[in-house]
Amino acid sequence: MDLPPIHLVHEFEPIPQELFSVESGQPFHSCLTCEGHLLQDGVNYLVEKAVRFYPQTGTQDIIFEYAMCMKCAQQLREELSAESRERVDAYFSERVDLVARREALLSLPEPLRLENWLSHCLITGAPRTACTEYQIYAQCDGRDLIYTYMPYLISGEAMEEIQELISPHTRQVLDDFMDQHFGLPPELRALLQERLVLI
Ligand SMILES: [Zn+2]
Repeated sequence: MDLPPIHLVHEFEPIPQELFSVESGQPFHSCLTCEGHLLQDGVNYLVEKAVRFYPQTGTQDIIFEYAMCMKCAQQLREELSAESRERVDAYFSERVDLVARREALLSLPEPLRLENWLSHCLITGAPRTACTEYQIYAQCDGRDLIYTYMPYLISGEAMEEIQELISPHTRQVLDDFMDQHFGLPPELRALLQERLVLI
């Protein structure tokens, strides 16, 4: 997406527990793809989690979670078809003004409150508690969460729409990636295919 670069002044804080690896109970320490160490200042990376929420019990399952360094994320993105990337970028820019959203969130009395940034679906505006499935995206630097245009939450509903924008080639690249790293069954894989096009 073609967004103005962000120069962080104080828009960061130690990574909140919600973005820790559920598996280890600690911040993610290595990149899923290159296994590079993440927890040093200046190392920029993404954290992503796919969540299934059960409104009746108020509980949730993590479908998958990982961290990936920017270099690997960028490399993967370059393997996707230009057409898919353009369509997804257009989908986003038609539906959300990420610059205005960031300004609005940072002007709140408690600007660095992860909960506020993840309270609604970025695309549909549905409240998080109404989403039975969603994905969370955040950008970190070493041991800090940085508030860029992320963090944000995308509902399963919006994910399905995004899925339809992806070319067969891109789908194949993402399938291969998921097979290699997660070995997931096809029904779960379908949930994940679109995620990297969003970076
Ligand atoms: Zn990496």
